[in-house]
Amino acid sequence: MSGAGDDASSPTLIIEGCAIATVDADGTEYASGYVVVNCGVITAIGPGSAPRPVSAGPAAPAPRIVDGSGCLLTPGLVNTHHHLYQWIFRGLAQDATLFGWLTELYPRWARIDEEAVYTAAQAGLGWLALTGCTTSSDHHYLFPRGSGDLLGATIEAARRIGLRFDPTRGSMDRGASAGGLPPDGVVEDIDAALAASQEAIGRHHDPRPGSLTRIGLAPCSPFSVSSELMVRTAELARAGGVRLHTHLAETADEEEFCLAEHGCTPAEYAESLGWLGPDVWLAHCVHLNDNAVKRLAATGTGTAHCPSSNARLGSGLAPVKSLIDSGAPVGLGVDGAASQEAGMLVEELRSALYLSRLRAGTAEPDQALDARGALRIGTIGGARLLGRADEIGSLEPGKYADLALWRLDGLGHADIADPVAALVLGPPAPLKLLAVHGRTVVEDGELRTADAARLAREARAASRRMMDGSRP
Ligand code: ZN
Repeated sequence: MSGAGDDASSPTLIIEGCAIATVDADGTEYASGYVVVNCGVITAIGPGSAPRPVSAGPAAPAPRIVDGSGCLLTPGLVNTHHHLYQWIFRGLAQDATLFGWLTELYPRWARIDEEAVYTAAQAGLGWLALTGCTTSSDHHYLFPRGSGDLLGATIEAARRIGLRFDPTRGSMDRGASAGGLPPDGVVEDIDAALAASQEAIGRHHDPRPGSLTRIGLAPCSPFSVSSELMVRTAELARAGGVRLHTHLAETADEEEFCLAEHGCTPAEYAESLGWLGPDVWLAHCVHLNDNAVKRLAATGTGTAHCPSSNARLGSGLAPVKSLIDSGAPVGLGVDGAASQEAGMLVEELRSALYLSRLRAGTAEPDQALDARGALRIGTIGGARLLGRADEIGSLEPGKYADLALWRLDGLGHADIADPVAALVLGPPAPLKLLAVHGRTVVEDGELRTADAARLAREARAASRRMMDGSRP
């Protein structure tokens, strides 16, 4: 397989001596095994020690061999919902539910500019990398006039940090004067939003196999976007061969809004607009009735489950197990850091499991998520939402080498009987190695592509600038 991120000069990478959870279709695991990576692609995986490559001659680079003893190797985690700009707006409106939280934050968010978004995105993506994520999406829907190239800023940040990145060009056209929730100053004219969406596809979308950047289109939500913008965006995305994303059925308030405005539930509204389908993934889907679960499954519509954000905002518990059991694609998301300050996908594995058991009222795995089910939605489930299930999300020959090598030999994990349970139920594990397309992004718990201390300093300065409203 060859693809967009290939680097033929990169040496062979061998990781061995580690437990492996491949997350393939059969759930294959090895108590001690190896993986071999060539030119960013997994070429072999199995139990025991790795076969040594035949030398390609004296000029060929020696293989890099990583001792994985005491570690668990998994696919890198796939984050399917985020708002990276929110990294510098954390800790606000702590006790509000969604509509109150949005109303309090919109005026501050209206101050964002290219520099602030670049800084926030680097910090948020750096933190995702440090906590096991190799691919992230981003949903950016806020484009105040004169704020610069905000989408370009997030893409450049992802390039610097080295994550695979599927950002969405979002939009809002329904301000308060048109019955929407956001203030008029932060929404766009419908034609401007559509033109910018078209431009985003043309400038940034890379459809090649193994691409490091793919664009999606993502009007924000039913209460901030007109029906016309939803419909025309879907037409644009389908003509351009890109995926569709939005927030849906997040809160009871949203359901009331849809019933009053459109006479139907959010899921029925989405379907009436052509917004259910295998090329669509929806953030949250907390408030779904049985019929909505069936429609999402029948249409192949994905759900980005964001359990910690739903808890922080008191939105409710999504019917994740019902969605999975009915065959609907489900992935995990951290959501924006202003509604989920931790911003680490590995914690969402545990939150998803715990909250599914609270919803089910039982710890029986056939009615709620188990540890392997949580890891599955955090990896291959997310890859499926992004249309990348053939490329990433599991450790199999032919897939791109996006992988996380977790240290489980420290005080927090060493005595936990099962390595997958140690990862999902134990505290967030440190990383020995995180690789994207075979390239090292994190090693021995440190970000290798950027200075994490610098990212923290810059994020703090940007946050202060946003809070006091000063512009450079
Ligand atoms: Zn969101």
